[in-house]
Amino acid sequence: MRALRLAEGSPQDQKSRSVAVSIDDERFMRLALAQAERARGHTGDNPWVGAVIAKDGEVIGDGHTHPPGSDHAEIAAIKSALSRGASLEGATIYSTLEPCSFHGRTPACALAIVEHRIARVVIGMRDPHPRVNGEGLTILRGAGVEVIEGVLEPEVARSLAPWIDAYHPHAKR
Ligand SMILES: [Zn+2]
Repeated sequence: MRALRLAEGSPQDQKSRSVAVSIDDERFMRLALAQAERARGHTGDNPWVGAVIAKDGEVIGDGHTHPPGSDHAEIAAIKSALSRGASLEGATIYSTLEPCSFHGRTPACALAIVEHRIARVVIGMRDPHPRVNGEGLTILRGAGVEVIEGVLEPEVARSLAPWIDAYHPHAKR
């Protein structure tokens, strides 16, 4: 299932809204994509993912995937927000890829998001890794976190195409 959050009504209506959720979601996802590109080529067999945390329309943290065994993008963004003294409670995290659901070389990002009381998770696309593939979203939704998926998905899929081709060719659309 894909949640489309496009604002209803005419373009005029959308413009007149002071805070259009859909426009913000795309704006922050673009920033997350830019973060992802900074990690490209430095993530080993992991996907290069970018994450941005926003609250009240402002970016309070951002980050990208670190080399294998170190922080994933979501954790890097959480640490960045905490280092600025920001409260994550009620914030939204934008991640180009679905947060991971299992403890691999690092603890699961989905659990970290829940622990830090982040209220909303917006992703570009699901992680095709067979051990994630929707499981991260299930953990989040089960914990009462609002999840929006498919924001800028074509751009995210294009960004990650070499990784998908190399490690998850079955997921190729
Ligand atoms: Zn992760």
